[in-house]
Amino acid sequence: TAPTCIITGASSGVGLYGAKSLAARGWHVVMACRDLAKATAAADALGIPKASRTLMPIDLGSQASVRAFVEAFRATGRALDALVCNAAVYLPRLTEPMRSPEGYEISVATNHFGHFLLANLLLPDLQRSTHASRRLIILGTVTANYEEFGGKIPIPAPADLGNLEGLEAGFLAPIAMLNGKAFKPGKAYKDSKLCNMITGRELHRRYHGQTGIVFNTLYPGCVADTPLFRHTPPAFQRIFPWFQKNITKGYVTQELAGDRLAQVVADPAFGSRSGVHWSWGNRQKEGREAFAQQLTARAQDQALGERLWTLTAGCVGMG
Ligand code: NDP
Repeated sequence: TAPTCIITGASSGVGLYGAKSLAARGWHVVMACRDLAKATAAADALGIPKASRTLMPIDLGSQASVRAFVEAFRATGRALDALVCNAAVYLPRLTEPMRSPEGYEISVATNHFGHFLLANLLLPDLQRSTHASRRLIILGTVTANYEEFGGKIPIPAPADLGNLEGLEAGFLAPIAMLNGKAFKPGKAYKDSKLCNMITGRELHRRYHGQTGIVFNTLYPGCVADTPLFRHTPPAFQRIFPWFQKNITKGYVTQELAGDRLAQVVADPAFGSRSGVHWSWGNRQKEGREAFAQQLTARAQDQALGERLWTLTAGCVGMG
């Protein structure tokens, strides 16, 4: 039977094209989406065969929904061979924090808490799989990696978790940032993506040796025209893809980004190492091979990683 991969946020962008590419490689894809009508229409439009896909509802911003998804997935009786934590919200124009049902700032709640909970709940399922290379893959990004130029851009500020003062204080209103400082919506996204990359490293450190599961993160390139940017100003949405194509040369198509995601999930070469952040660099070149990108000291600091793990576990009811 076909191996099974869950992809969160497969209704558009990288996740949708990743689902298409994995289906073409003979995988069955569970498309975990918050809007099933939209996801079905998108899957149909791309010609992802019905036999290669199962659509299931999840709202990553709601912990109850994440738990319900895990129960519903188990009820399908499918084995779980790979999990891709891909869904994300980017809301850079909020003037006030939006809150999840549990009361947490929405980009951290969705991008980090939801995936932290999902990954932890599904670890035993991945462990039971008899697939030769079981993998848990998380989408990271250059803008949250201070090691690279793109991670240093101060608009509105580089990712920085401080000493997690906001998380330690419970991360409920009026607190909206993990470091407890003033709300900056664009930075909240970057912080949440830094948490994603730290979570990948912590999963590797805690569980790779014991389970053999491969835990990796990736940066697929600048996919400047996905709906991720739909909440940015209209002028930005016109200029950003052009700038990435012509000036930085960082632009990749959704198709290529999806194919890169599928490679990291399924290709043997990407399963030979765990605890790696895969990248194809920031200037795209035809035929360029993926490499292990060094992460910022902030993502490699084990004490911070352990603290983030413990405090997040508390916020998602796993403490
Ligand atoms: P898109 O906006 O196209 O896709 C995001 C997906 O996440 C959509 O399917 C969206 O669903 C889903 N989603 C959002 N909120 C929730 C929620 N609460 N519950 C369930 N699903 C949700 O963005 P991209 O494809 O660009 O981004 C995908 C990943 O790639 C993200 O993790 C992003 O950080 C990462 N990335 C993107 C880069 C880029 O240049 N685009 C660069 C580097 C990393 P819906 O359709 O319902 O909104």
